Amino acid sequence: MVEIKPVKAFRDNYIWLIGSSESHHVAIVDPGDASPVLERIREQEFSPMAILLTHHHPDHVGGVGKLLEQYKIPVYGPAAEDIPSVTHPLREGDNLILTNAGITLTVLEVPGHTAGALAYHGPGVAFTGDTLFTAGCGRLFEGTPAQMHSSLGKLAALPDSTKIYCGHEYTMANLAFALAVEPGNHAISYRIETCRKLREADQPTVPATLAEEKLTNPFLRTGEVSVKQAANRHAGRQLENEIDVLAVIRQWKDTF
Ligand SMILES: [Zn+2]
Repeated sequence: MVEIKPVKAFRDNYIWLIGSSESHHVAIVDPGDASPVLERIREQEFSPMAILLTHHHPDHVGGVGKLLEQYKIPVYGPAAEDIPSVTHPLREGDNLILTNAGITLTVLEVPGHTAGALAYHGPGVAFTGDTLFTAGCGRLFEGTPAQMHSSLGKLAALPDSTKIYCGHEYTMANLAFALAVEPGNHAISYRIETCRKLREADQPTVPATLAEEKLTNPFLRTGEVSVKQAANRHAGRQLENEIDVLAVIRQWKDTF
């Protein structure tokens, strides 16, 4: 059985370890820092088999060099970004067979947060980096609102039961913003209570299912009348389409 475990890094990053209950092999997703990963490998006697990168930001790739000093393993990452440590550049539709973890992941190109960002999805799981967050989405550092809208659309097309493993613990702040956009959305208030309890117990709120995201994440709800009306009010004009709605709420979130 596939097992996915978080390793906490920096203030709020999650590095994900993909493994299997039958073996000690793990693939490491977005090791921004090597130390907590090496510590976990030692503790659990894991055997690293691959590194998967979603995008080039230092808090996602910063630990790769140190890991490679100890383990000669392939590094998969976006072909469209300049990451010197990547040995296997990937494009949309490429498959990544992690034999020892018993899972095959398929690559989605999801530009928006960065120009060449990737997500990896497999049966029941998606690693979304800083593109789709639980209850939010990444800042548009290199991409356009249209690109982010299309990227989120690709992820939203995965099965509703898909668990979303993102790169940061941002859920509570994202939900506070979601509630400001949709004060009448009870699914958001309910999720705030659930996540508050998890955080009080120092538990991750990640992963969440895509079904939960569709009910509460304003960036997946740009087609909903309530989100559109809130964006219209914030912009002080009638927005024409979902991309404009996404652009306005993304900017609104930046200053929230
Ligand atoms: Zn990032």
